Amino acid sequence: MKRSSSGGVREHWEELVKTAAQVEASTLGAYEPARAGFTWEAARGELDGLPGGHGLNIAHEAVDRHAAGPRREHLALRWIGRHGDVRDFTYQALAEWSNRCAGALTVLGLRKGDVVAVLAGRIPELYIAALGILKAGGVFCPMFSAFGPEPVQARMRIARARVLVTTTSLYHRKVEPIRSDLPDLEHVLLVRDGDGPIDVPGAHDFGERLAAADTRFVIPPTDPEDPALLHFTSGTTGRPKGALHVHEAVVAHHVTGRLALDLHPDDVFWCTADPGWVTGTSYGIIAPLTNGVTSIVDEGDFDAERWYGILRDQRVTVWYTAPTAVRMMMKMGTALAQQYALPHLRFLASVGEPLNPEAVMWGVEAFGLPFHDNWWQTETGGIMIANFASMPIRPGSMGRPLPGIDVGIVRRTASGVEEIDDPDVEGELALRQGWPSMFRGYLHDEARYRACFAGGWYLTGDLARRDRDGYCWFVGRADDVIKSSGHLIGPFEVESALMEHPAVAEAGVIGKPDPVALEVVKAFVALKSGYAADEALRRSLLAFARQRLGAAVAPKEIDFLPTLPKTRSGKIMRRLLKARELGLPEGDLSTLEPL
Ligand code: ATP
Ligand code: MG
Repeated sequence: MKRSSSGGVREHWEELVKTAAQVEASTLGAYEPARAGFTWEAARGELDGLPGGHGLNIAHEAVDRHAAGPRREHLALRWIGRHGDVRDFTYQALAEWSNRCAGALTVLGLRKGDVVAVLAGRIPELYIAALGILKAGGVFCPMFSAFGPEPVQARMRIARARVLVTTTSLYHRKVEPIRSDLPDLEHVLLVRDGDGPIDVPGAHDFGERLAAADTRFVIPPTDPEDPALLHFTSGTTGRPKGALHVHEAVVAHHVTGRLALDLHPDDVFWCTADPGWVTGTSYGIIAPLTNGVTSIVDEGDFDAERWYGILRDQRVTVWYTAPTAVRMMMKMGTALAQQYALPHLRFLASVGEPLNPEAVMWGVEAFGLPFHDNWWQTETGGIMIANFASMPIRPGSMGRPLPGIDVGIVRRTASGVEEIDDPDVEGELALRQGWPSMFRGYLHDEARYRACFAGGWYLTGDLARRDRDGYCWFVGRADDVIKSSGHLIGPFEVESALMEHPAVAEAGVIGKPDPVALEVVKAFVALKSGYAADEALRRSLLAFARQRLGAAVAPKEIDFLPTLPKTRSGKIMRRLLKARELGLPEGDLSTLEPL
């Protein structure tokens, strides 16, 4: 599809149809046959397993098996530093560096199942550590580097981390103040990013330890059910939970990378997520490597021009990003995007929040390519629902379930759950239990874990509906849905309608208690530059929404905010908008992005 004026885009609003050539060239092929022919057992067969039948280890599948084969010299990871410096790692190099790290951890006495927390920006050592920890039998627990001491302490205590990998500067700023509250922490591996001695209890110099270690390492036998990853959720709805994943998850990382992100061996793939969140690990580390592609890592923070430059200069072919980033780029204007020639870019995907149809279509305006939304959670470990490269996109829909994934729309009942078979009826989104990357527990919260399952389903806490053709449509989180005068209103629908207004950059919608209607819809809106937050615009937005949504669903009130409160992983925190509106306690703010 070529870039076009917005007039042309509107013609494709209902559905973005794929050509036969696109279907054929995609890694999924035609959806129905691919789904019918899929088994997880066969998917497992796409991976090697550890030599000698010693089980399944994520890091072996990610790097060692490529290092031992024809992709040995293929570029696995290109790291771009904040100031533009570049470090390249072939599969062979990454295998050796991660071997050194695994060896160093083993020398320190790491035992199978020990949690190793990693607090670092997107530096090469983070990626080496992740793979080294997995090789050594540890559990990789990434922590977002912008967390303050409190959230670091809370997570490390829940995780009972014995080892921490971090940088000298992050240690001094974030860990030192809470060190006495971390009784389980024995070893700190410090990456030097400043001058000065490493005079910290239990400290070791990461660089020196790796330099002294062997480039060879034999991964000990790994049961597919051995714990591998501990990820904390985004904290959008409350206190973050620690979701535990096992090595078998790699089967899902691998096939979902191939099928939902359409990874082909020669792709240059860029996942913009930070490994502090599950996307940045499942698709920023594991899936691209198991698929043998070249993965781009940018240390820098979001900056539209920097990002366009990376897409162009690195010849990125597949780009996986998030709705907030897309909205920020939209805010900067289509003309800016169009200044960059991006002939290599062929597939755009997004996750993390509902992707407004406006954003899907903006991709066509700006890049000649639509964004493909997909849905999943920390708990699911990998993509579960997607708009595939081979499938017509319905803008605003999350797409259809991955092969091997059974989606149900269910209603909770006193005795369990009941499936809703009728199309277009809202209910809770559920997944049939048992896919490889399903989380195996919330750490130290067994009761909460068990409460997520009923009647063979994992209940996601999200509301959705499924249309006649099996496309799933996100309605809202169960906690965020608004009940107004007998209607159930999903905030996403209202936010998407507001986003269609040319002045609106972002919208967040809540239910505000009302004596008559139970709740009324209230919207918070951030404007694009050049628009004044005045009474005339407020009235115009109210009328615009009423015209699109009808009086029953449209917001009754609109407030302007310079920007909406978001988690550090980029999700609008509707619970905070609501708490502030109602003057209620603000709850856990450990993941709130500072303004
Ligand atoms: P917490 O569970 O701590 O409240 P969180 O649910 O935001 O935080 P994540 O696991 O990072 O933590 O996010 C998963 C959630 O993000 C999903 O349950 C869903 O609500 C939302 N989400 C992810 N992708 C999409 C999508 N494509 N469309 C709509 N919502 C999405
Ligand atoms: Mg959640």
